Amino acid sequence: VAAVMTAEQVVAALREECATPASRLDEVAAAMADEMAAGLAEEGGSKIKMIVSYVDNLPNGSEEGLFYALDLGGTNFRVLRVQLAGRERRVVKRDTREVSIPPHLMSGNSSELFGFIASVLAKFVEDEGHSAMFSDKQRELGFTFSFPVRQTSITSGTLIKWTKAFSIDDAVGEDVVAELQTAMEKQGLDMRVSALINDTVGTLAAGSYYDEDVVVGVILGTGSNAAYVEKAIAIPKLEGELPKSGNMVINTEWGNFSSSCLPITEFDQALDKESLNPGEQIFEKLISGMYLGEIVRRVLLKISSRCSIFGNVDQIKLNTQFILRTPDISAMHHDQTPDLRIVAEKLADNLKITDTSLETRKMVVEICDIVTRRSARLAAAGIVGILRKIGRGTPGHNRKSVVAIDGGLYEHYTEFRQCLESTLTELLGEDASKSVAVKLANDGSGLGAALIAAAHSQYL
Ligand code: ADP
Ligand code: MG
Repeated sequence: VAAVMTAEQVVAALREECATPASRLDEVAAAMADEMAAGLAEEGGSKIKMIVSYVDNLPNGSEEGLFYALDLGGTNFRVLRVQLAGRERRVVKRDTREVSIPPHLMSGNSSELFGFIASVLAKFVEDEGHSAMFSDKQRELGFTFSFPVRQTSITSGTLIKWTKAFSIDDAVGEDVVAELQTAMEKQGLDMRVSALINDTVGTLAAGSYYDEDVVVGVILGTGSNAAYVEKAIAIPKLEGELPKSGNMVINTEWGNFSSSCLPITEFDQALDKESLNPGEQIFEKLISGMYLGEIVRRVLLKISSRCSIFGNVDQIKLNTQFILRTPDISAMHHDQTPDLRIVAEKLADNLKITDTSLETRKMVVEICDIVTRRSARLAAAGIVGILRKIGRGTPGHNRKSVVAIDGGLYEHYTEFRQCLESTLTELLGEDASKSVAVKLANDGSGLGAALIAAAHSQYL
């Protein structure tokens, strides 16, 4: 009995430390809006970089032609080819290929990674079947590169740092467009990178291509980030002439947000300390798909070291970082079987925990719930922070604002998605939330890159 109490105590403490009442989320949203303003004021003004994207016009539908995109930023990368046919017909053809990145390339050297990507792209181009079209023209590509990049134009940017599972030292400080361009030339591929963007900017662009009320793009996948349309005059650090449109898309890099109002537990602290980027991406480590399963694993490990409710477990599995993935906790969280059979299976398959009572399985579901609710509610608070910064979603403000969201966490984890959406309503209030909508922008990051490449074509 004492042992069971200990497990319950661990869960009770977790529940309390992960609590996100609306009052706390309001503080998070306010802190986010403040950090955004500080990051716009001057370079290095905030932990969130508020990167100027050099996208001052979002695609409007008039784009035409065949364009490529390459989306690199998580565990997979995607190549994409779209045929755009103008305002009436829009995207008439779309081919994609998804390839997982061999793990050794994520921490090797830069030329190997880009060489691999260019080789996949070259093969993809081979089955295009439009080659006559490019006999006197260069193919054009939008490159979605979802790591913090310091941009100086729409076609160049140097890598500031890696995040998520990537760590390739010799690429930091280098121009990622130049590296890709070199790798493509080695493959004999005559293609021009017409736009370098981030997945959030792509999601925003793809969202607004279909719905002009989209003003924010959010990624909730392996990592997390957001971009939005800012008034150019609200960006003191913007140098040179103001864009004609009066607007500029800002890539917030909100993953690196941190604040004393965030609910952080011993599990988060240990995860951060043992991560590839300690002290960085604190907000991302609380909310994104790369980490939720890992947080749950750490809670289960603590419980198993305190008591024997998991039976006689082999600690090796439970001690292995990232062995429990977010899709696993999602499957357990959604288990509707009366005896929680899926939870039992996941525990057995992933952690070699084979002997659990129904009570224990219920407890595991609760842990998934606590960790995921905190994540979804913090993500909602981040969105509210952005909306407040641009004066949207406030009472009396009737202008429709749509938030386009892409990423496997939001797309596939139903409990997460529902919690995020209900939290938005809770924070904005019943009335103001009527003017705000969220919608899934499936593979917006890739499509958006192709659209922005089209909008910045050298043949316009
Ligand atoms: P990326 O972020 O790598 O570009 P995605 O947007 O496809 O790619 O997101 C993949 C991430 O989404 C995975 O790392 C995982 O964390 C999360 N994910 C994928 N499937 C599920 C699922 N069924 N339930 C919960 N999370 C999922
Ligand atoms: Mg992605």
